[in-house]
Amino acid sequence: MAQAGAVPPTHATGPSGGTPPQLVVLDEPWNGWNVDGSSDAVPVSGFHVRDYEVATGLRPRLCAFEGCNNRPQVGGHVWLPGKRSGVYIVPICRPCNDPDNEARWTEGRSRIRAGATLMKVAKTAGMRNAVRRGSGTRARQSGAARAPANPPAPAPAPTPVANRARPYHHRRPPNRAQRAASRATRATRAAPPSISVTVTVGA
Ligand SMILES: [Zn+2]
Repeated sequence: MAQAGAVPPTHATGPSGGTPPQLVVLDEPWNGWNVDGSSDAVPVSGFHVRDYEVATGLRPRLCAFEGCNNRPQVGGHVWLPGKRSGVYIVPICRPCNDPDNEARWTEGRSRIRAGATLMKVAKTAGMRNAVRRGSGTRARQSGAARAPANPPAPAPAPTPVANRARPYHHRRPPNRAQRAASRATRATRAAPPSISVTVTVGA
């Protein structure tokens, strides 16, 4: 039964064959939020999470959003900015997939956890045309607000570390013992111990 306005599957995986999907494994947490307008994405198997499992061979135990300890229940469409920019499917829990969950909006500052494997998929017309909720000036997400074809000046420099600008909130100042150890290390580097080498030549 065809859905009104449905488009062909955005990726070809599993039994139907086709181009293997591009998988990305995060070696560090990465900014990510739910993509609006994904309702016209049609899963090959009938379920996005099933497509993901077929493509990756994985069944993650935790929702992909950092800090969420729920079990994943659905294959969510998330947008990653920066050098990994694109739309991905990754298993997340239903509360995180809820369109009303502001923490998963663009401004929600949510991140995808380190170690997560994501399956890249194509943007659908619905995603391209979706208006971001609560985005004010940035009315549209991702590619819809892409820079013009001939930008006036090249971007200064890629900033792959931008994503890490927000320091880990667990980071805390070193304690007394750590400071002492650090001083000892510096002292050792500054003044390496003298080494006495005795070489016996001949006999
Ligand atoms: Zn979650």
